[in-house]
Amino acid sequence: MKQPILYMVLPCYNEELVLDETSSRLEKKYHELIENQKISEKSRICFVNDGSKDSTWKMISNLHTKKPDLFSGINLSRNRGHQNALLAGLMTVKDLSDCVISMDADLQDDINVIDEMIEKFVNEGIDVVYGVRDNRDTDTSFKRGTAGMYYSLMKLLGSENVPNSADFRLMSHRALNGLAQFGEVNLFLRGMVPLVGFKSDIIYYKRGERFAGESKYPLKKMISFAIDGITSMSATPMRIIFWVGLLAFVLAILGGIYVFLSRITKDTAIGWSSTMVAIVGFGGLQLLALGIIGEYVGKIFNEVKQRPRYIIQDFINKQ
Ligand code: UDP
Ligand code: MG
Repeated sequence: MKQPILYMVLPCYNEELVLDETSSRLEKKYHELIENQKISEKSRICFVNDGSKDSTWKMISNLHTKKPDLFSGINLSRNRGHQNALLAGLMTVKDLSDCVISMDADLQDDINVIDEMIEKFVNEGIDVVYGVRDNRDTDTSFKRGTAGMYYSLMKLLGSENVPNSADFRLMSHRALNGLAQFGEVNLFLRGMVPLVGFKSDIIYYKRGERFAGESKYPLKKMISFAIDGITSMSATPMRIIFWVGLLAFVLAILGGIYVFLSRITKDTAIGWSSTMVAIVGFGGLQLLALGIIGEYVGKIFNEVKQRPRYIIQDFINKQ
């Protein structure tokens, strides 16, 4: 394949402050790529509006009206979150393209990596090219620390394949077809893509600052994304509960024997403090265990409902 049709997919939630800059930088990049005959003229830049409350969709449709040969847009019926918006974009454009690159709209991902991604796809036949940040200087030390711990934990829990990457990656048409076969409602794309298989490679890049606006991942969302990631990729936490429970049970039996023996040998009155400690300790443990199990039950509940992951309101694209 000489000049692949490349679609870029960028989920946007309230990104009116960055869209102008993002679109103009990408436009420049596309002109350069098309001029150098690296990609086909049918390539497009597709913004996915994830139910923004600001003028994001208006800006996207303006872009399309002015430059239909370059920009297209998908408007979701409501806010569904980054992962769903990204999937909506990928699934909508997959049959129009030879490969798709996903990236965030806030210019934190380095668009100059795109050339190398395409090169790997065209020349080396690589189906999935991950963009992995080789530093996190621009993230807060809190985010860096927690992310580091998180990915180590994921590894420990058996999801070895999750690269420490954002959702900046190239996927070939057939890799996307593979991804389309995953029916799960609880999306953790960066964990699912490695499961698709195919030849993959990594390109390291420096992740920049968000160009403007605020992160759409406040702490609360970050935590729920982290929990989703673990519970949709691994059942180990449930198994840990089993072992902790077993250990507690064995300890309780040993403790019981000890109490019984000291009662007959020493005639001591057993204080209520030790009882309280046991009650509170085991009570806490049970609640924690129930919480983890509940997390999985909730996941099952969501999966069996088989609700759509997103609903597309408009798709504006010139083919
Ligand atoms: N985003 C989205 N829907 C949401 C939240 C975020 O489509 O509900 C998009 C957002 O517009 C951005 C990308 O997801 O393009 C990543 O979000 P952000 O940059 O806020 O996350 P961070 O880089 O701070 O982790
Ligand atoms: Mg960002």
